Amino acid sequence: MLILGGGFAGVLTAQELEKRTRRRDDVEIWLVNRENFMLFTPLLPEVCSGTLEARHCVSALRAMLKKGSSWPLTATVQRIDLEAQVVTVLGGDDEQHRLGFDTLVIALGGETSTFGIPGIHEYAVGMKTLADAFALRNRVIEMLERADLEPDPAERQAQLTFVVGGAGFSGVQTAGEIEDFIRKVRRRYYPAIAEGQAKGYLIELNDRVLREMPAEMGEYAARNLASRGYEVLLGTPIKEVREDAVVIGAERREIPTRTVIWTGGVRPSPLVAQSGLECDRGGRAITQPTMQTSHPAIFAIGDCASIPNPEDPDGRPHAPTAQNAVREARRLAQNILARIDGRPMQAFRYSPLGTLASIGHHTGVGVVFGVRVRGLLAWFMWRGYYWTRVPGFNRKMRVALDWLLAALFGTDPVQLKVDYDAVGMGPSGKRRPTPRRIDPRA
Ligand SMILES: Cc1cc2nc3c(=O)[nH]c(=O)nc-3n(C[C@H](O)[C@H](O)[C@H](O)COP(=O)(O)OP(=O)(O)OC[C@H]3O[C@@H](n4cnc5c(N)ncnc54)[C@H](O)[C@@H]3O)c2cc1C
Repeated sequence: MLILGGGFAGVLTAQELEKRTRRRDDVEIWLVNRENFMLFTPLLPEVCSGTLEARHCVSALRAMLKKGSSWPLTATVQRIDLEAQVVTVLGGDDEQHRLGFDTLVIALGGETSTFGIPGIHEYAVGMKTLADAFALRNRVIEMLERADLEPDPAERQAQLTFVVGGAGFSGVQTAGEIEDFIRKVRRRYYPAIAEGQAKGYLIELNDRVLREMPAEMGEYAARNLASRGYEVLLGTPIKEVREDAVVIGAERREIPTRTVIWTGGVRPSPLVAQSGLECDRGGRAITQPTMQTSHPAIFAIGDCASIPNPEDPDGRPHAPTAQNAVREARRLAQNILARIDGRPMQAFRYSPLGTLASIGHHTGVGVVFGVRVRGLLAWFMWRGYYWTRVPGFNRKMRVALDWLLAALFGTDPVQLKVDYDAVGMGPSGKRRPTPRRIDPRA
């Protein structure tokens, strides 16, 4: 059996299968993922503020799947051949490998979508991967360093203007974390930058912040960010991103800035539609309630799947959230084993118990068991809930310690840039044939 994707959906499916097949030797599980770790996305924005060490919001797949019957493989999926039941991957050895399967789980998640907006690809930073969080942290610190020396007031203001595109969970949380970080380090390390000089914009195409929650919760989040220096612009499309500005709205208002963070769009992995499976308009694999796709040996799950939700009053499929992916994985593992054993499969049913979001500065919003919560209580609940979901005791302890140390000692503006030239490695990790050397006689 082959599982493509090592995010919440793929890893949890593998773990559940492992648990249920301990005493069987007829099930072998291979999990292919581009990275050798699983990323815990809800904590990703805390990596850019430095509250959390980058390594602590990821877990090694080899540690998560060490129990015997499943094997992680670090490789990039290139093609899914439905007819031949073969997946082509590019391994770390730069060679293509063909992996056959009798059962396939597609859990490739999504990737940042720019909706064709000019300049996003070239000049904006995303918030989807660990590399994105690193890049954003480095960018924010670089802007503070430059602004500290910049004599021209207009250029300085552009350096201190941070624009977040998209006001969903990740946009709001990222906006909150950036403000939190700048407020903490400015006072202590950049006294030349006046209070209130750093400015933020949160730009959203829809007429609400946090559409996943009741309107009142979104309004609270917007008011809170506005009180911390953000201008929240709703119903406003981003038209273009340039190196030195972002262009917004029908009137094409220009905001001079050096930092645009794009969280406004995620699309499913294009490999899903390319495989020839039946997909919805957005490119998600359409599945039965059992998560079986249009090919009987192939299942799809998580952000790249459109799984019908009979309980949704508007007939929408299950939402692409980590919360859902984790539950889908449990049901899918049971269904796969039922299919192997010739038993009937069961439909996936789940109604989330609530939603919570952190907006930084010890503040959160959410709805839990139908009760609306906000402020410090919601923030504690958000931290508490996600802490219990961090995989493994080891990681839980590291995350808790990071939070404790950040509360005791604050954060600092260390920029973690990797100078590949100095170590003779390309970004791909391959040793360059002619590493640059300093000649001591020169
Ligand atoms: C910043 C941020 C904050 C979020 N906060 C929350 C939250 O608070 N609560 C919540 O419920 N949800 C949250 N989400 C959404 C949540 O992360 C996703 O719904 C969830 O990760 C979906 O799981 P998945 O396994 O389907 O996809 P993913 O987690 O995206 O995993 C897909 C995996 O497939 C791998 N992959 C993709 N293409 C290839 C390829 N070609 N070859 C090999 N491997 C490949 C990827 O590297 C990745 O490891 C957040 C998302 C982000 C980005």
